[in-house]
Amino acid sequence: MKLTILGYYGGYPDHGVGTSAYLVESGDYRLLMDCGSGALLALEQVCPPEQLDGVLLTHYHHDHAADVGVLQYYYQLHQDDQKTLPLPIYGHTKDPLNFAALTFGGFTRGVGYTADTTLHLGPLELTFLETEHPVPAFAVRIRETTTGKVLVNTSDTRAFPALAPFAQGADLLMADTNFLAAHPAPLWHLTATQAGELAQAAGAKALLLTHLPQQVALPKLLAEAQAAAGAVPTSLASTKKVIHI
Ligand SMILES: [Zn+2]
Repeated sequence: MKLTILGYYGGYPDHGVGTSAYLVESGDYRLLMDCGSGALLALEQVCPPEQLDGVLLTHYHHDHAADVGVLQYYYQLHQDDQKTLPLPIYGHTKDPLNFAALTFGGFTRGVGYTADTTLHLGPLELTFLETEHPVPAFAVRIRETTTGKVLVNTSDTRAFPALAPFAQGADLLMADTNFLAAHPAPLWHLTATQAGELAQAAGAKALLLTHLPQQVALPKLLAEAQAAAGAVPTSLASTKKVIHI
């Protein structure tokens, strides 16, 4: 399984780097995981967008879904080229208006999931955990059936007990790490310390800090997370990074 980081900021793009968007590849299957601001621009640098097999949205906040509309236009204007038509966009069904917007002509089609759903997408098996966030959002656990490797993405969430068992044994844990430990409450994202503690509690083999803040010194964020993660190797998301899991 290969993870390409297309954008990693929370909230808004900054200095040429977009918000949450990740390309997950296994064999010739390509899944775009979240489609935030700048996702399509970054994707075009890596692979032709018509080569996607699916898109997964963890929730409908703009920093995770802003580029869905332009991706739909792209598919409309490249009707003869697509690998998959209509392109399935997997989204939760707790927000009917946003879910309905995933279907666009014959070009993209919304496919609903809930906390009980298991999605089988090519060689990938996806399961979900609803997180604690101001809007319904879902963490996702992706198991590559050909190798047994596991990638877990917390999506946006505050810390809560069910996260660690959901992320148990992940080969790579992507954690929403939007705050330094000293950030005042209320917290709707993990602090760096909480991300590190989660990785250690889950027995993750590696921790990737994602959903990064623009206004915080990232080396300090990394140091706090690594201190809490103990022996779990911890790194910052970077658009220069391709991770083989
Ligand atoms: Zn977000």
